[in-house]
Order: sequence, then structure tokens, then C-alpha cells
Amino acid sequence: MGCVRCGKEAVIELQQGGLCEEHFVRYFQRKVYRTIRKHKLFSKQDRLCVACSGGKDSLTILDLVGKLARKRRQPIVALGIDEGVPGYREKQLEDMKYFCDKNDIEYRIVTFREEFGYTIEELMKIASKKKLQISQCALCGVLRRRLLNQCAKRLGATRIIVGHNLDDEVQTFMMNLFKGGIELAARMGPATGMVKHDGFIPRVKPLYFCTEHETTAYTKLKGIRVIYASCPYRKDSYRAFIAKHIDEIEKDYNGTKTSIIGNLMKMLPLLKKQYSSGKIPECRLCGEPSRNDICTACATLKKLGIKGPD
Ligand code: SF4
Repeated sequence: MGCVRCGKEAVIELQQGGLCEEHFVRYFQRKVYRTIRKHKLFSKQDRLCVACSGGKDSLTILDLVGKLARKRRQPIVALGIDEGVPGYREKQLEDMKYFCDKNDIEYRIVTFREEFGYTIEELMKIASKKKLQISQCALCGVLRRRLLNQCAKRLGATRIIVGHNLDDEVQTFMMNLFKGGIELAARMGPATGMVKHDGFIPRVKPLYFCTEHETTAYTKLKGIRVIYASCPYRKDSYRAFIAKHIDEIEKDYNGTKTSIIGNLMKMLPLLKKQYSSGKIPECRLCGEPSRNDICTACATLKKLGIKGPD
């Protein structure tokens, strides 16, 4: 297969045809920077915090946004959250530290144990003893989101950059349609948050239009040290179930994922108009933005009998 632009040997096959290394890297970088510009994900004045799991997507975005920040002399920090999945997260965070040291990017790592007193596995044991019906990913996700916002605020960030790619977004959209509710889809898009709130740092997704296939290829071609493995708990999650079926559809009907995101983008203005509910109040326990009197993270910690970080 030859590159559709220059005829050299292609390293990847995309919907538009094969691309050689040079043309793929150029196409990929342009797509990411265009998303940042077109959707005004951040400005030169923002203090950037890159949420970094240490996996391929977060290191890809750290690479691209890091280059941009260096050019603009803009402050940037990588933030890793270690929930304590043994044999997995510590290896990924090693890759993050290696990348940051090599590229002279400041980083911080916070752990569930330091912030909540327990790792995710210990929290699950407490939940099981208390007979709480909660999946590990639901508990982990809610606490990670809370820590991310709190820690980014501590670091003085004005934008949180996450490495969610097109595949992640398609899965989230389908999960919302099947289970969560269409109103949750109104919070989607390259920049999240329907309503502004001083306590909520906007989260932006420069990889919104990039597939997992593309980010994997980018890390390989750029020689970014990364482990291509998922958290061992992912396979039992609803997200993994949805991902498997969407991948099967994509295999038979090439372009389905891109089409879903294209249609979501067309619907988003209407969804935001319909479900925007004005000012978000604060959780009365932690002060974080919450639509309920007590936010989900505090309600969950309360059920577990644990005090969260201040
Ligand atoms: Fe946490 Fe589940 Fe993600 Fe693992 S797969 S890091 S347990 S949310």
C-alpha cells in the first residue's frame, strides 16, 4: 500500500487511504492543533494542567501540547493520579516521569492513599464489607474526577487537558444513550462543562477527532515509551462491553465512529440549549460544584465512612 500523498510506503491505513510516516505525523499533528484552535480549547494566557495516566493518549497529548506550550513559553504541568491498581499504574506513571524528565516538563503525582487514606482496592474491600453496590470503575472514576479538579486548582491551572480520543467519546455517547440519559450527552464535546463555575476548571480534549488507532500509531512512530495495556479492571466494565460492540460495527462499516461523533457535534448546540440549567450550586460538604446538595464523590465517601481531602 502506498501513501496517497507521495506514493512512498504507507505506515497506516485511514479512511482516506494509506499515509507514509511523514504525511501521517503531519496530518495527525495538524488535526490536533486545528481542534485546539477551532474549538478555542485554551489560549496563550492559560495555565495548563495535563491529566496524565501515563498511557498512549495522555503522553501523545503531553507531547503535542508540551511542544506548543514551550513555543509560547506557557506554563504547563502534568498531573498523574495513582489510584493504586497494583502492577499497572506504577508502570504507567514511570513512563510519564520518564517522558517529563526527557522533555523538561514539570509533573506532580497524587495518590488515592495520600488523599483518601486508601487505595482503590482497599476502598472496594470496605465497600464490599458494607455491602455497597458499586463497581470498581464507578468508584474509581468518581474519585479520580474529583481529585483531578481539586489538584488542578491547587496547582493554579486554568485548563485541564485530557487525552480522551474519538473512540472514548463514541463509547461515552453510546453509554449515555443506553444508560445514563441524553442530558449527560449535553456535557460532551471537545470542551466540557455547560455552565461556568469558579470551582470548576474546564476540561478540554484536543484528541477529540483522533482515533485510538491513530494515537497508537503516533506514539510508535515518535518512539514514545509507553505500555500498550489496559487497566486489568477495564475488561469487566460496561465501557469495555460497549467498546467491543462498536469495534465490531466499525470493522464491518468503516467510518461509523467518525460519523457518530460528526452527528453528535451537530446535535450538541441543541442539547446544550435544552439541558443547560444555569448556575451550578456547590456541594455542602466539599464545596466542589455539584447539582446535588452533596456531590457524588462525597456521598460515596460518606457511605464508605471515609473523610475526603479538603
Ligand atoms: Fe479505575 Fe476502572 Fe479505569 Fe482501572 S479501568 S483505572 S479501575 S476506572
